Parts: sequence; structure tokens; C-alpha cells
Amino acid sequence: MIRGIVILLAMVLLAAAPAAAQYYPIFDAHIHYSRPDWDSYTPERILSILARAGVRRALVSSTPDDGTLKLYERAPAGIVPALRPYRTRTDMSTWTRDPAVAAYVEERLKRGIYRAIGESHFGAGDVGAPVVKRVAELAVEHKLVLWCHIDDTTVEAMLTTYPGARVLWAHAGMSASAQRVGELLDRHPMLWVELALRTDVAPDGSLDPAWRKVFMRHPDRFVVGTDTWVTSRWESVRSATEAVQRWLQQLPREVAEQIAWKNGDRLFPPP
Ligand SMILES: [Zn+2]
Repeated sequence: MIRGIVILLAMVLLAAAPAAAQYYPIFDAHIHYSRPDWDSYTPERILSILARAGVRRALVSSTPDDGTLKLYERAPAGIVPALRPYRTRTDMSTWTRDPAVAAYVEERLKRGIYRAIGESHFGAGDVGAPVVKRVAELAVEHKLVLWCHIDDTTVEAMLTTYPGARVLWAHAGMSASAQRVGELLDRHPMLWVELALRTDVAPDGSLDPAWRKVFMRHPDRFVVGTDTWVTSRWESVRSATEAVQRWLQQLPREVAEQIAWKNGDRLFPPP
């Protein structure tokens, strides 16, 4: 009984600790506000969820793109707009060879607000496809970042085929090992790595030694993200960000600050 009270007291004290004070501001480099989300969450609610999770700025792309604009119109300082080459979800599997998508991207870029093109999905066999090529040219021409959800072979092919383009690699390829990510960063100065859904970075909350090594070697090339790819994910933004904060605490402050928000601000300088 006494022991139970002591544990309970300890929990209350921990909960009362000023946790927010030791948290880093976050640049979340992986947010979507797509059509299915619109009925459940108003733009105001979305901005409030991000703010309460400690997200100061966020890279956002949506299907359709109007979702991004809804947020950007209300918070131009906090929302970094990215243009997806998808008018609807069905474009996801066909966009690399659909000239209508290239025309759509070119037309939409005329708004002049976008900082990245993506998040886009494709495979190694699509790297030379006409619309991927056109999008890479547009990215270089307009100084936009290519935000790609691709595997490690494909990211390397992109970096060698389009050496002038900066690539933001979503989920670090989802399955590439820390060592493989480190090797790619060593070889390709235009590569930036985003870590949404990579629970292997800190399994059970403690920072994996292989990931620590690569963060220490390339502290200026990583960003964090949540990825609100389905509507239910909005309920997890706060807990996912807290999990990131826990492993950031295990790094030297100057490294953690870069990964938390400084790299995001360098890649997408505030307006
Ligand atoms: Zn995504």
C-alpha cells in the first residue's frame, strides 16, 4: 500500500515537472492534410494540434493540394507548402508517365508559394521517366526540394541522375539501415533525411547506437516528421512528437537542436 502511494506520488511529481521547458521546438517535415481529413478536422483544429505538439513549422503536402492551401492561408509563417504531383490518389501510381501531371505541376507552381515538390512515390525504374525528369528540372529551376518516398536504390539513382537537385528522403527510405543512410550522406551532399515512422531510431525509447553514430557524423542533414497519412494519425501527432523528444534528449544539445528544427529552417528558410 505504502509502496503504491510512493509510486503514485512519483508519477504525480513527474507529470507536474515542467516538461515543456526542456522540449525542443520542432520543425515537422512530414505532414499531410488530405481530403478525408477535412470533414473531421477544421484547419484551425489542425493548427492547434500542431501547436500543442510543439511544432513550430511544418512541411505540408496534401491530396488534393487545396488541403495545404487551407492551412497555409491561415498560418503562412508556420506552414511550408509542398506541391504533390497528385491531383487525386489515383495519380499516385501513374504520375511518373502522365504528361497531364507535368502540366498540372507547372501550372500550380505559378502561385509561387511552394518550397518543395512531393511527397511523391516511385521506384528505381521510374527515375528516368518523363514526369520525374520534368519535376527534377522544375525543382532545380525554382530552387525547390524534391520530397521523395523512395527506397535507398532509388534515392541514390535520383542523386546521381539529377545532381543539381536537393532531395528530402522521406522515412529514410522506410527500411534503409542507419549504416546505409550514413553511407549515402557521406557520398551525396544534396541528400537530406527525414525520419517519420522510423521507430527503429529509438526502440523502447532508447536511442539506437547505430543511429546515434550517423546523427553525430551528419547532424546537419536530418529532420524529424510525423506523417499524417490517414485521418486517425492526427490523434497521434502529440505522442509521436513526444517520442521524438525523448530520443533527442539523449543527444548533445547542439546536435538535437539541429535535428529538431534548425535543419528544417536551413532547408526551408523562414519567409
Ligand atoms: Zn507521407
